[in-house]
Amino acid sequence: MLRVDRLSAWYGEARALREVSMRVEEGEIVTLVGRNGAGKTTLLRCLMGLHAKTSGTVALFGEDVSALGPHRRARRGLGYVPDDRGIFATLSVEENLLLPPAFSKARSRPGGGPEPWSLERVYETFPRLRERRRFPGTRLSGGEQQMLALARVLRTGARLLLCDEPTEGLSPLIVERIGEILREVKAAGVTVLLIEQNVHFAATVADRHYLLAEGRIVESLDNDQVRAREHELLEYLGI
Ligand code: ATP
Repeated sequence: MLRVDRLSAWYGEARALREVSMRVEEGEIVTLVGRNGAGKTTLLRCLMGLHAKTSGTVALFGEDVSALGPHRRARRGLGYVPDDRGIFATLSVEENLLLPPAFSKARSRPGGGPEPWSLERVYETFPRLRERRRFPGTRLSGGEQQMLALARVLRTGARLLLCDEPTEGLSPLIVERIGEILREVKAAGVTVLLIEQNVHFAATVADRHYLLAEGRIVESLDNDQVRAREHELLEYLGI
């Protein structure tokens, strides 16, 4: 579903990613773990086509998309939830959900994949958003904002979701709810690649993990390995 080969990225002369190669298979939830500054956000931005200075290749659903911009990648079924969640603060929850993505009508669906989620389906999965549908974005809690950001991307019919630390700053109860939602999203046929520093949470929600350090993938871990090394990893991550 996603194949990355020898991807490098720069900010000016400074190299932020060094020949990253990785895979995400259909139906998986995969996490990216690493210290602050390891390059996780840069990697997601490169996958979405939002970072200009790169080398290497990114293939999505079997097609080399390295030369395509974010709109074209989105049209092929890639969705991105940035760390600031990217919702419109002055619009209501429902207005945020109804904003049609520019590519919604034109999107091509090679190989099928999940249908764009209807408003009703969003409200079934996120009853909290139904309750809050007339609230402006500014009045939502962090967890509600995260749900809205995820729901908006699902409305586009994304089949591979890139999520930049969806649990950051959320209370343990809400983190648990986000975990349930990610599992529901997976059951609905959506593949997920997410940044996650909470390795305990990562091992309960994901199938596999990549550890990133100084712009390189240094290890690929399964859940048993993460659980066995939880304390060591937390110490390494400085948490
Ligand atoms: P964090 O969890 O702190 O966001 P991260 O793993 O996502 O960390 P990135 O934000 O991708 O890391 O940063 C990777 C490297 O690129 C870091 O050395 C960072 O200082 C550098 N970097 C990030 N954004 C910029 C920028 N706009 N200009 C210059 N350097 C940047």
